[in-house]
Parts: sequence; C-alpha cells; structure tokens
Amino acid sequence: MSLVPRQLTEANVLDVWESGLAGPPAARSLLLASMAAPSGCSVADLPLSALNSLLLELRRGAFGDALPCAADCPECGECLDVTVAAGELLPSGGGGAVAATATVTSYGRTVTYRALTGRDVRAVDPAAPGARQTLLRRCVLRVDPPAHDLPDEVLEDVARRLADLDPGADAVLTLDCPQCGHGWDAALDLAEHLWTDVSGYAHRLLHEVHALARAYGWTEADVLSISPTRRQFYLEASTG
Ligand SMILES: [Zn+2]
Repeated sequence: MSLVPRQLTEANVLDVWESGLAGPPAARSLLLASMAAPSGCSVADLPLSALNSLLLELRRGAFGDALPCAADCPECGECLDVTVAAGELLPSGGGGAVAATATVTSYGRTVTYRALTGRDVRAVDPAAPGARQTLLRRCVLRVDPPAHDLPDEVLEDVARRLADLDPGADAVLTLDCPQCGHGWDAALDLAEHLWTDVSGYAHRLLHEVHALARAYGWTEADVLSISPTRRQFYLEASTG
C-alpha cells in the first residue's frame, strides 16, 4: 500500500470533476480531501480541521498558495476582493488524526462529546428540518444520567464548545472594509473554493480537447497524452 499522497493532475482532474459533480458538497469535500491523503486513510473519520488541512495541501499543490476570495461587507455592501495565503488558513493546534473528545455539564447532565467529522457532515442533509440538531446529536457519545432526547439547550452548549475541541474546523477570514471601516469574520468554505478551481481546470482542459479534436481529428486520449506546452502550440497553430 502506497503512503504517497496523490495530487490533482491533468491525468486525474477530469475523473475527479466528474465524480464530484454527481454528489452533494459534503461528498465533494471528502472526495477532494482523499486526493491529498495517504492511500488507505479513511478521510471521513478525520476531524474537520484535518480535512481542511488536506484540502489546503491539495489546493497548494495544484493551484498555488494564494487563495483569492470575495466577500460583501455586511454594513455597507462594498464588495471586498482579498487574497489569503493557504498557510494562514492552516489550523494551528488542530489537524489531529482522531476526533478529540470532551465533557460538559449542562442543565444537570454530564455530556461526553467528540469533534465533528466529515462523515457527520456527509450524513446530514443541511436542508432537512432540524439538520443542526441532528448534526449535534451525532457528536454526543454519552449522557449521564441517560436521556432519550437531549434538550436543544444542552445541544447548544455542546455546539458552543465544538470550536475549542477542534480549532481549524472552520476556515475564517478576518476582514476589514476599506469603505466603512467595519471589521468582521467571514467563514470560508474551503471545499467549495477548491471545487471552483477544479471545475475551472476541468473546463479549460475539456475546451482544449474540443478545439484540438475538431482541428486535427484527435481523440480525447490523444489530446491528453500531449504535454501542456505542445498542446498550447497546436492550439495556437490551429487558430492562427
Ligand atoms: Zn463596509
């Protein structure tokens, strides 16, 4: 079994893109993270911070360290374009391979809970009624005294503590609006950000295949077997 992580390359990006199109965003996140993980590693059971580390690793390897992001100021509506370095978004203190556990006493019950994993997020449809509670209940390992159904207040107590249990579970941008001076934190969905890059990469490649297949009668496999530099030459020659 190889321990060398795979990378996103011309040879596999079309397959990854096609597989990702078929699933919901949470499945795409796992698909992409698995590309950067050593083979045999079950990425679904990693805490979210470790998933984020893998996504950033893949992003850096395939598209570089700079992540362009856009956000609207919640105060004045100004659109901010910022570029962050992947290194700045890497979780510090998180990223462990096992979901950490902790205990909280809330409304007379002692609740043992663990950090969220990709499998939890994948299992819950975010549009379903009570999705947040369903997700939080998945983190609860033990309740003392036992309770059939935990009240929402207890689940919210757990929710407030999840960020401490897994720093880096959410990638956060600290933003300042140059127009009105408002400062705020914006969550960055790393998987969706990376998916946009993957999608763009796949589309560029497909357009190249299309143009060269039409110009020279080559098959998709023919075009993809040509190096990007030579392909660029043929593309220019065919339109010149
Ligand atoms: Zn503003």
